[in-house]
Amino acid sequence: MVEIDTMPELEQALAEVAAEMAERTDRGSVATYIPQLGKVDPGKFGIAAVTNDGRVILAGDADQPFSIQSVSKVFTLTLALGKIGDALWHRVGREPSGNPFNSIVQLEHENGIPRNPFINAGAIVISDVLLAGHQPREAIGEILRFVQFLADDDTIVIDREVAASERATGHRNFALANYMKSFGNLHHEPELALGVYFHHCAIGMSCRQLAIAGRFLANGGRNPTTGHSVVSTERARRIGALMLTCGHYDGSGDFAFRVGIPGKSGVGGGILGIVPGVASLAVWSPGLNENGNSKLGSIALEKLARMMNWSIFAP
Ligand code: GLN
Repeated sequence: MVEIDTMPELEQALAEVAAEMAERTDRGSVATYIPQLGKVDPGKFGIAAVTNDGRVILAGDADQPFSIQSVSKVFTLTLALGKIGDALWHRVGREPSGNPFNSIVQLEHENGIPRNPFINAGAIVISDVLLAGHQPREAIGEILRFVQFLADDDTIVIDREVAASERATGHRNFALANYMKSFGNLHHEPELALGVYFHHCAIGMSCRQLAIAGRFLANGGRNPTTGHSVVSTERARRIGALMLTCGHYDGSGDFAFRVGIPGKSGVGGGILGIVPGVASLAVWSPGLNENGNSKLGSIALEKLARMMNWSIFAP
């Protein structure tokens, strides 16, 4: 793993990557199946790195909030593990799916147990776990407050229009939830679990806020600046392992191959990347590739990782 004394290059590397991405015309396509996301300007690009020694380095539109969508699944997984621990693994698997994020095909063969917590079906089960003993609005409030705590920023809010837009068009997610309910793997009404799910996907954050929120994962479960312990070291490693193997859906292998660090993407075009022991990274470019992952975001992280010699496989 790279030593901290190579850090002065980081500012320059981020600026170079952002300048190169600004020039590119092959930006992918913004998600339109959630109509509200289809309104976002594909020309946006932001990137943030927060090092474990506390430096915050930004380039491009790094302070503009965007819809974090499935990146939020890292935070709901963390909360659900805190709530029920390893019992979670009776209801959700931890294998890459090799299928699109909203696929239904495996659920029948696997008796309503989603392959992993990051595909939609898995995250809907996690919303159901977080609902236990709560009204949906309380569960949503708990998730939002957790994200605000991680980012040390209580200005972070849920974009109600995005949540409503997704609910209005979320027929596939309703299908997934109803199907899992038929196997007994949702304990609440599908409508309620989906209410929680749509709202946490609609959290709006900037690259700066997202990178700060990911710091505990880059530092063995503890925020290195505040000293707040979020999860155990073992749990932080395991969440990182799931991000590496499942964080980009059927593009997870390619992201690991090209970038070499754990990452979690969302259809809003954001990616949270973790360089264990070194830094938490966030990138945003709304245009997506064929797997529904940020096209330029993945390319930017690949370039940055190469420039900085960052890889979990680096000697
Ligand atoms: N809210 C989105 C959906 O359910 C999340 C998908 C994603 O970000 N990959 O379709």
